[in-house]
Amino acid sequence: MKEEDIRKRETFDKYLQLVEQDIDTFFVNRSSFEIINCPACKSPEFKEEFEKLGFKYVSCKKCNTLFVNPRPSFEALKRFYVQSPSTQFWVNGFFKPVAEARREKLFKPRADFIREKFGDDPAWLIGDIGAGFGIFLEELRKIWPDSEYVAIEPSLEMAEICRQKSFIVQNLPAEEVSDYRGQFDLLIAFELFEHLFDPGIFLERIGSLLKPGGYLLLTTLNGQGFDIQLLWENSKSISPPHHLNFFNPKSISLLLASCGFIKAEVTTPGKLDWDIVEGMIKSSKMDLGRFWEFVAYSKNEICKSELQEWIGRNDLSSHMRVIAKKND
Ligand SMILES: [Zn+2]
Repeated sequence: MKEEDIRKRETFDKYLQLVEQDIDTFFVNRSSFEIINCPACKSPEFKEEFEKLGFKYVSCKKCNTLFVNPRPSFEALKRFYVQSPSTQFWVNGFFKPVAEARREKLFKPRADFIREKFGDDPAWLIGDIGAGFGIFLEELRKIWPDSEYVAIEPSLEMAEICRQKSFIVQNLPAEEVSDYRGQFDLLIAFELFEHLFDPGIFLERIGSLLKPGGYLLLTTLNGQGFDIQLLWENSKSISPPHHLNFFNPKSISLLLASCGFIKAEVTTPGKLDWDIVEGMIKSSKMDLGRFWEFVAYSKNEICKSELQEWIGRNDLSSHMRVIAKKND
């Protein structure tokens, strides 16, 4: 898979420009930002790493989680996600044109993964947190037609699209859902965790929506991933105000354990790390040193895909997947 398939570089850059403008509108009052402890292990000890677009990133001295600190409040972030022009562009300009490509490259494989993991249709109640256009749920419904699906989606526009696809809809952030207490067999949150104001509270709230023994499947960014480590503050994944939390395999396990989840399985099945780095070397002329430049320009596709496999197998991809079970 290539970055270009699921994220057109040019459109993505335009989106990032809009985000910069929105930051000036929505996050002017920095004195309202809240200082937090490490979102993973609650340690108050952190090291300052860098500043990006006026947001400070620090890393926890204990568990190495990279996070924005101080950060905008939950309410300020919610306002931004609901009202900002960049969010509108994300929905209409960025996502819609690649939606079908994403169905094939991302959502179908995710649905297949769930069948591999949990077997034939168990007729579960399943919630997709941040369901977007409902594409993933459509794919899962095709292979598990007897299960019931709830799209949890705070954006009005996208919630309406999910409704048209005849999913049950909760037009709210997951933290505010109060129906379905203790009823879900499986909750899913793809690429959401990095956005959250308080990941611990999020896990506690959604934990309360799960049945005892119910499952949580999430994907998020790994701050110890290959492209993020190499590109660091220049990484497009490090994009405030969206991406506030960069957990790692160890720190996310810690947090899950402290929020009533057991048996967290963490893997990094990412496929894009090398492609992102190569793109930054070739298109953005970024200097990452002699060795990676040599690999980018002189080695063949087999070498590069073996490198990517090695990255994924060793928990070094920046795309991390977690399955955890709620305590019985
Ligand atoms: Zn920590």
